Formats: sequence, structure tokens, C-alpha cells
Amino acid sequence: MFDALQENLGAAFKTLRGQGKLTEGNMRDGLKLVEKALLEADVSYEVVRTFMKRVGEQALGEKVLGSLRPNEQVIGIVYQELVNLMGPVDHSLHLKGKGDVTVLMMCGLQGSGKTTTCGKLGKMLKANGRRPLLVAADLQRPAAIDQLHVLGEQLDIPVFSDRTTQDPVKVTANAVERAKKLEADVVILDTAGRLHIDSELMDQLKRIDQRCHPDQIYLVVDGMTGQDAVNSAKAFNEALELDGVIMTKLDGDARGGAAISVKEVTGVPLKFMGTGEHLENLEPFHPERMAGRILG
Ligand code: GDP
Repeated sequence: MFDALQENLGAAFKTLRGQGKLTEGNMRDGLKLVEKALLEADVSYEVVRTFMKRVGEQALGEKVLGSLRPNEQVIGIVYQELVNLMGPVDHSLHLKGKGDVTVLMMCGLQGSGKTTTCGKLGKMLKANGRRPLLVAADLQRPAAIDQLHVLGEQLDIPVFSDRTTQDPVKVTANAVERAKKLEADVVILDTAGRLHIDSELMDQLKRIDQRCHPDQIYLVVDGMTGQDAVNSAKAFNEALELDGVIMTKLDGDARGGAAISVKEVTGVPLKFMGTGEHLENLEPFHPERMAGRILG
């Protein structure tokens, strides 16, 4: 994960390490390499700018330059600023008590991994003693309903769908009623996805939000799509006020920029990450661990 970024940052710090006592010029050269590594990893330009300003202010101060091991100090500063960029993260799904129904609304573009992530969350909740109900609220694509039923069977989790209506608001409202009958306590809504953000999709999601008042709204984005993932998080957040982002496909050769940028750009924390196609491949996102990993 994020191999190129790790390598480039490693190279940047290596140039500083060879220097013994650092001059301001050495430090500026090293920081330029850090900046280049972040831009090449597809971190948003604005994020890189503010990040480098924060790092530069500390690294170019006398306290670091005059210290015994300025190189180690800079790594510490970069680590801490990466953690600050990506966090803090509250991993709680804010579930109500077991007698009550919590509604988690899952949104995302087609192909982002939304339906798979609904299954992954269902599995995680079930393992924690909850009784999830998966709800097929993507009525545009009949295949999406089938896919959710297959997941439900695999996980032994009930699935609610209604092929007689084209109204996802109705499906959602009925699903909450069904959850009460089934004594399910977490409703996971798999909403419609599109290839691109359009006003029809946003209107539909807003209608579900206004009528059904989900307790939490999560956006699933594909980490491989870089800045597109960040831009879609921005657009969805403007329409829906997201409670968290779940970034998928971080097991692949994602460059890392989206994971690093999304919280700073949108104000919405990256809560979970998808690390594979299997249903157990969902992990809480820990900024400290991620920053540690990036710095090798
Ligand atoms: P949706 O259209 O957003 O509902 O996307 P799907 O859930 O159908 O997922 C699209 C593809 O991405 C499928 O082939 C999934 O197996 C795959 N996928 C989902 N999450 C991950 C992940 O975290 N890692 C990898 N490698 N593949 C994933």
C-alpha cells in the first residue's frame, strides 16, 4: 500500500540524513522532495500547500536546525502533521441500544464497492452481536438487488427488497418497519449508485435522508480513483452531510493521496478502509498507523 510514496519520502529523508548538521538550504531541499513525493502520490494541491507550510514553519526553526539529529526531528514533524491531516477519527457507528433500530445509509458511485461494503459492515456488526438487515434501495439496477441477496445468503443476514416499486424512499420506510418485525437492530441501506454524480441521484438520496432520517450516512469511495474520490466526497458531503467516508481498494496500488487528503478537504473523517474483495476485508482507519506505514 502506498509503496511509491513510502519510497519517495524515504529518499527525501535520506538526503537529509547524510548531512550531519543541517543548513537552512539543506532543509529546504529536503522539504522540496517531501512536497514532490506528496504531489506524486496525488495528494490534493491545496492540502500539500498547507501541509508543507505547517511542516516548514517547524522544520526551519532554530530548535530543529540546531538540534543534534535534525533529520529525525523532521520525520517526527512530518509524522505528526500527517496524523493531524487524517485524524482524529471516531470509529463508532453510533448505534442505538439493541431494542432500537439504527439506520446506516450507504452512498457511493457505481463500482466504488458500496454493495460489498454493506456486506462487510453487516458481517462486522453480526460478529459484534448485532442483528443487521440489508436493504436493497438501489432500484435502478436489478442486478444490484440480486447482488445484495447473494451477500445476505453468504452471511446469513436477512435482506429486504421490493421489486414492485421504483421508489427507494418507500422501500426504505418499509424496511425500517420490517426491521422492527424481524427484531433487527441495524438497517444498512444500499442506495443507488451512478457512474457520475448527477442531480437526480443527489435528489433521490436527499429524499431518503429527509423522509427516513438515517442515523449515520457513510460514503463509499474507491481509493484507486485518487482525487476523483476526494471530489466526490466533497460533492456528496455538500448534499448530505456525511458522517464518515469508507475508502475501498486500499489493498491495490492506490497512490495514497485520496486517503491523505479526504479529511482535510471535506472535514469528514475516513473511518474504515476496504482492503480486499473478501467480506472480512474491512478495517478501521487509524491515522497513526497509516502515517507510520507511510514513513516506513
Ligand atoms: P458498487 O457498484 O459500488 O456496489 O460496487 P461493488 O460492491 O459491486 O464492487 C465493485 C467491485 O469492487 C467488485 O468487484 C468488488 O469485489 C470490488 N471491491 C469492493 N471493495 C473492494 C476492496 O476493498 N478491495 C478490492 N480489491 N476490491 C474491492
